[in-house]
Amino acid sequence: MDSVSKYFGCEVFNDTVMKKRLPPETYNLMQRTIKNGKHLELGLANGVANAMKDWAIEKGATHYTHWFQPMTGITAEKHDSFISPVSGGKVIMEFSGKELIQGEPDASSVPSGGLRATFEARGYTAWDATSYAFIKDNTLCIPTAFCSYGGHALDKKTPLLRSMQALSKQALRVIKLFGNEDVNYVETTVGAEQEYFLIDKSVFDKRKDLIYTGRTLFGAKPPKGQEMDDHYFGTIKPRVLEFMKELDEELWKLGILAKTEHNEVAPAQHELAPIFTTTNIAADHNQLTMELMQKIAKKHDMVCLLHEKPFAGVNGSGKHNNWSLSTDTGKNLLNPGDTPAQNAQFLLFLCAVIKAVDEYQDLLRISVASAGNDHRLGANEAPPAIVSIFLGTELSEILEAIEHDEAYGTKEKELLRVGVHTLPKFPKDSTDRNRTSPFAFTGNKFEFRMLGSSASISDANVMLNTSVAEELKQFADVLENSSDFEKDLHEIIKTTISKHKRIIFNGNGYDDKWVEEAERRGLLNLRSTPDCIPYLLADKNVKLFADHKVYSLEELRAQCDIQLEVYCKVINIEALTLLNMVNKDILPAVSDFIEDLSRAYNQKKQTGLALDMKYEEELIKELSALCGQLYEKKLTLESSMEKKDRFDDFSEEARFFRDVIFAGMNDIRQTVDVLEDKTRSSVWPYPTYGAILFSVK
Ligand code: ADP
Ligand code: MG
Repeated sequence: MDSVSKYFGCEVFNDTVMKKRLPPETYNLMQRTIKNGKHLELGLANGVANAMKDWAIEKGATHYTHWFQPMTGITAEKHDSFISPVSGGKVIMEFSGKELIQGEPDASSVPSGGLRATFEARGYTAWDATSYAFIKDNTLCIPTAFCSYGGHALDKKTPLLRSMQALSKQALRVIKLFGNEDVNYVETTVGAEQEYFLIDKSVFDKRKDLIYTGRTLFGAKPPKGQEMDDHYFGTIKPRVLEFMKELDEELWKLGILAKTEHNEVAPAQHELAPIFTTTNIAADHNQLTMELMQKIAKKHDMVCLLHEKPFAGVNGSGKHNNWSLSTDTGKNLLNPGDTPAQNAQFLLFLCAVIKAVDEYQDLLRISVASAGNDHRLGANEAPPAIVSIFLGTELSEILEAIEHDEAYGTKEKELLRVGVHTLPKFPKDSTDRNRTSPFAFTGNKFEFRMLGSSASISDANVMLNTSVAEELKQFADVLENSSDFEKDLHEIIKTTISKHKRIIFNGNGYDDKWVEEAERRGLLNLRSTPDCIPYLLADKNVKLFADHKVYSLEELRAQCDIQLEVYCKVINIEALTLLNMVNKDILPAVSDFIEDLSRAYNQKKQTGLALDMKYEEELIKELSALCGQLYEKKLTLESSMEKKDRFDDFSEEARFFRDVIFAGMNDIRQTVDVLEDKTRSSVWPYPTYGAILFSVK
């Protein structure tokens, strides 16, 4: 065995370890729990906990934690040690089944959107046995869901697990109609490609904006950016290679299937793609990947930036959520297959996705909304804020032929009957060329490309799973009671295509013409976070989530409040950081420079030689004028900031932050960037874009 396969998953309490360490009976029961989501009996949990503890201690662990994902989208952990006092001033190491299956983190400061009034500050965490426990930093981490005692979800995992169940239930109904009796459940699979920037720690440390906000609030364009496209194809620098090597190793130890590491379009930008897995595990793994990227970068004297838009004028970072459905027997339901029956089933699932994306465009948009991602979407480098589906010409033509009862292809003039004819082959590679589509069919999966790089992938998958579950439910309701299955199936597919084809767009999503065209088609164009979040509470969405038991109305309200509140907080911190930089560093630096210039001017004057003083004279004038302008602009922003606490309603507050504070910041930035270009390098208080983007040699 080569060394990677030897250490892969060595920090994970996975199936192999369980088989080895659990008594056969416990192991079998545990398998049932994992596969069928059965509740774990306390007696059984005691046995598992003990085996887990022994394994963890042998591997050097001293603590355990219930690892969970609060609604802010990051991860949280509170470490407890295994120690338990015994007589004689000694301790033993203990870990009970109760401690394994349920925890009570005092997480009263974790946002709950009012779901958990402070008087019942405690929530509880419950083990998600479908995601293996693992060791990180000498701590046994148990992936858990986090709920209030009232049963409300306080995290990202609970709704995700619920949505996976909803989808499995409806997808099973559909595939049974096609005779797949051997299937027990259907799961969604996800591979999340992660983009990030790596910069040298020395430049990072000199930028308050990067430290406090994760992005640069100022920065004049460098002489060279990404226009040469030389980074994407370029070789990976040795320091970055070292980083990637260590990252891969650490991810592999945690059983994470890191597969591809490469450079991205912008200088200093890179990407990691894992091999896909079950959605909730993919979500856990993506969180761990982001955490490890940041940690390992530090070890290499670099900083990993996960912000969606660290640099203006340079591509931002996203996350591509590759999504498909798979049976427990390993069949990909978005694979067209070769026979008429397989084709028919594929087309029905395809139609469910098309209908879902059309009817719930707002939810998909909401699932990727954040202050950071607002910089990317619609900014001609990422998908537009308009949700649409790319199917490729061939598949679109096939759907069109079905819709209009027309012949497809040139050879035979036969109509394409779903369930009777075999679909013509459409080449897979032609499907992945459109990089501008937010939601692209790539042969046997959909790639949802709107996610921001720092986001948890849970929200996006909750929306996808639940909306597709709803469409499958509607289809199954009809087909289960059909007296002519083939006819009704054909009819459903035809009607869906004709009603929802407006969501299909194979053209260039970056083109302004698309914005007009989308408007004509009646598609939503929700440009910013404050625009889209309120849609979460639209009647159709409340009904969707209630019907599939994914979110209650209270949970949706909480979700809505939290997303808007976080949006306001982010911009608030950015504005405070920006004002601090202007007041303490930028204005004083330019003022110093003007003083220097004035001194030079005066000295030249004193020589009495009638020297040319145009440089000093004009620059002093120009800089003074710009300084005056900047000073005025920052006074305006400061007085706007005084009004920020006036709002009772998060929606109004968020719009205020967008229209007044954020707009004011952009205005200030314009002046500062001009000043940067005119000021002597040695007095400019921050590393320039050029210095940052090319900091890793
Ligand atoms: P490309 O984007 O170049 O076509 P791949 O198709 O190999 O590359 O995969 C891109 C990403 O999609 C990878 O993370 C991969 O694991 C994931 N992926 C592939 N098949 C599936 C699937 N059935 N479900 C979910 N993700 C998938
Ligand atoms: Mg891809």
